[in-house]
Amino acid sequence: MVCAFDAKPTETKRGEVMRHIKSSSQYIHNAVSRLRWINMAARPDKRNGLFWELAADYQAFRPDAVDTVACPLCLTEYGLENIADLSREHVVPSKLGGRSETLTCRRKCNNTHGTRLDSHLINAMRAMDAVEGVAPIPTILGSEKGKIVAELFLPSGPDPEPFRIQIVGKASNMEASDDLRNNLRDGFTLNMQMSFPFIPERYFRAAFRAAFLSVFKAEGYQYALSVGAGQVRNMLEAEVPVLEKVIMEAFPEREPSTDLLVMPVTFNDVGECYSVLLRLRTKRTRYITVFLPGKSGSDWSALGALYEHAPRLRLQTIPHGWDSHLYIHFGYDPLFRVRKGMQDRFMPKFPPTSNP
Ligand SMILES: [Zn+2]
Repeated sequence: MVCAFDAKPTETKRGEVMRHIKSSSQYIHNAVSRLRWINMAARPDKRNGLFWELAADYQAFRPDAVDTVACPLCLTEYGLENIADLSREHVVPSKLGGRSETLTCRRKCNNTHGTRLDSHLINAMRAMDAVEGVAPIPTILGSEKGKIVAELFLPSGPDPEPFRIQIVGKASNMEASDDLRNNLRDGFTLNMQMSFPFIPERYFRAAFRAAFLSVFKAEGYQYALSVGAGQVRNMLEAEVPVLEKVIMEAFPEREPSTDLLVMPVTFNDVGECYSVLLRLRTKRTRYITVFLPGKSGSDWSALGALYEHAPRLRLQTIPHGWDSHLYIHFGYDPLFRVRKGMQDRFMPKFPPTSNP
């Protein structure tokens, strides 16, 4: 077994080794507690499990496709012999607390699109943490003497408290930091450059992608092969602007037990749609709802009209299987809060009056 550590078993009889081990039981305890035993037999390969689940579903729609699955994002088919070209992908990024998984193309869809887009969704949520004062904002302070790297903490309460700047000494120009410390008083000018490392358009695209994979996770290929899924796929693949108006913030009365919730909904003007609730966890837990066309497809512009015609409308529903309400705030997406939060704190409330 394990424990030969420093006992030089080749030079010692087995009994002596055992005695040695016994005498240093604390040492052994520490060493053994650091070992992680993984019973491979008890851990079925999750990718295989997902493969067989999807293959059974796929064959119901494509009877000739034996032991075959299709990537939900690009519909490329993979047989069992090519399973290595598929990878498990979290529907909601694991860095945002997502647990549910599906299979997508390892290279084309997961690595390329997935990782690139997901970082924008993650960073958008971290930006909200920063605006709400529960995480720092990476900031560059510039004075005449040089650059100072800092972290800016906004107040977390609703009252107008001062904000806090913490200088990252190692990364900053020392002379500039000293100058700032010595001269910070009324009238001292400081340029602040705050960075929120995400691009809104990619954040929206990542949210659509997660919502699309959620519906696939819930409904399988009857969704992935539908007209409506094709519409979403076109939008995800083509480098065209996404329809950001159909992503809204949602507020469940109680925390749902799942990281994703797919609800079919019908609107008079739009027809059947899906409302997908995504739970996104960073320092705080937030929910967004993404509306997607139903299986028979919808007119995107009509979906967009949900927002145009009903800004500030609140949809109140009790999802199937719940015993509490879910509120969806139309025209109110998390980025709106980031923008408004920053504006309220750093921009004057009223335009300054100019004296002619
Ligand atoms: Zn793919």
